[in-house]
Amino acid sequence: MTVVIVEERLEELRIGFSGPLLQSGDEGYDDARRVHNGLVDRRPALIARCSGAADIADAVRFARAAGLDISVRGGGHNVAGRAVADDALMIDLSQMKGIHVDPGKRTVRAQGGVLWREFNREAAAHGLATTGGAISTTGIAGLTLGGGLGWLMAKHGLAADNLLSVELVTADGDIVEVTESSDPDLFWALRGGGGNFGIAASLEYRLHPLEMVTGGLIAHPIDAAGDLLRFYRDAVAGVSDDLTVFAGLVHAPDGSGAKLAAMVVFHTGTPEEAERDLAPFKEWGSPLVVEVGPMPYPVMNSLLDDGFPTGSLNYWLSSFTSGLTDGFIETAIERFASVPSQMSAIFLEHFHGAVTRIPVEATAVPHREEGWNLLIPSVWLDPADSEANITWTKESHAAFAEHLTERRWLNYLGDDQDADAVRGAYGPNYDRLVELKRRYDPGNIFHHNHNIEP
Ligand SMILES: Cc1cc2nc3c(=O)[nH]c(=O)nc-3n(C[C@H](O)[C@H](O)[C@H](O)COP(=O)(O)OP(=O)(O)OC[C@H]3O[C@@H](n4cnc5c(N)ncnc54)[C@H](O)[C@@H]3O)c2cc1C
Repeated sequence: MTVVIVEERLEELRIGFSGPLLQSGDEGYDDARRVHNGLVDRRPALIARCSGAADIADAVRFARAAGLDISVRGGGHNVAGRAVADDALMIDLSQMKGIHVDPGKRTVRAQGGVLWREFNREAAAHGLATTGGAISTTGIAGLTLGGGLGWLMAKHGLAADNLLSVELVTADGDIVEVTESSDPDLFWALRGGGGNFGIAASLEYRLHPLEMVTGGLIAHPIDAAGDLLRFYRDAVAGVSDDLTVFAGLVHAPDGSGAKLAAMVVFHTGTPEEAERDLAPFKEWGSPLVVEVGPMPYPVMNSLLDDGFPTGSLNYWLSSFTSGLTDGFIETAIERFASVPSQMSAIFLEHFHGAVTRIPVEATAVPHREEGWNLLIPSVWLDPADSEANITWTKESHAAFAEHLTERRWLNYLGDDQDADAVRGAYGPNYDRLVELKRRYDPGNIFHHNHNIEP
């Protein structure tokens, strides 16, 4: 289907619009439509590269008048690739990079195109930080609106739990400041409702004093996987909020293709506290690698970046586990033996501490149980290998079925997830989200996302 944009309407939009408006054939169009996941190859009718809230509002009104679908791009990192849609208007915030830290109030306001590495740098200049993703190349907007798990969640909750206000462009194209006191329902929905409730032109967060952390990698030969994962399961029970350990079956980062059983450790306490708490993890078994030490938080946040190159091909599946039983661990080992790509992993993200003390109904994010999220991030480079990698990921996720709950991490959902997976991501908060979607976006203007149908 080819969408025809009425030239007079486009000219009207062009008059006030600050950034470029790109159509197929224009210089920059192909770069602008590209997202992190190289499997995603979609051609929008128009890409509106916004500079601020006024551009976003004009773009929303233009799309409504022109009868165009809307997709919203923040950091462009979502594996599902819903930031870009065929024949739609892509409202592109990727050039919106403003960040202002208020060190006195310990807050920051950042625009919707900012990436965590840019955010971390500005916050760290004042000795401050807040929960972002586990790597630094994701966008703050998509990640936060979807909840946002990361290294600091045991200490300070999710990214969404640290949100103070959102400068939002609504389905009508109005610009509103949404806070807990201005509109408690909408503010609730924004913290975990994904992109369903409007376009976040900028987001304001609470910051926390944080400079040096202790972190790094501990890796064992793959033959030790069973013993290591059983040790890990027991060792993280009851750890302090300062300590977060993710673990999994991975490949050596040196490109050798060697399979490893590994833990990534992160500690926010003093060097003495970190030494004490990390000793059991460093001393267990016969590790091949113990690269753990003090580093600034932004460095820790970028340690895993190289494993996820922009443009690589991605197919991910994930679910919260019902526990790391011996059966789960055996399944992980068995499935990893046939992994087709040296860039893929079977990974466990440990939820405990502050993130689990927030009530399920306090924000739209329902995942507050202590335990592990299983993530199978398949990453490869050659399109000829796509079928093998996608099949392996699906079969691996299915093999874990008896050890998994229905709960899903919204930010990790792919493009082909069924309705049950989407329901599993919003969990018991789904019904309230539907009610609020009816109030704030009854026409489902914002539907290129993991959609809550009004
Ligand atoms: C390598 C990698 C690592 C990841 N690590 C983590 C992690 O540690 N923790 C975690 O929680 N998630 C993680 N994710 C998932 C990530 O949080 C989501 O993909 C998130 O959507 C990325 O945000 P973005 O702005 O970059 O995405 P985009 O692809 O730009 O947007 C994704 C969707 O979010 C919505 N959206 C984006 N910006 C806005 C906005 N300004 N206003 C309204 N809606 C918007 C839209 O619906 C859009 O379709 C990771 C993903 C990858 C690929």
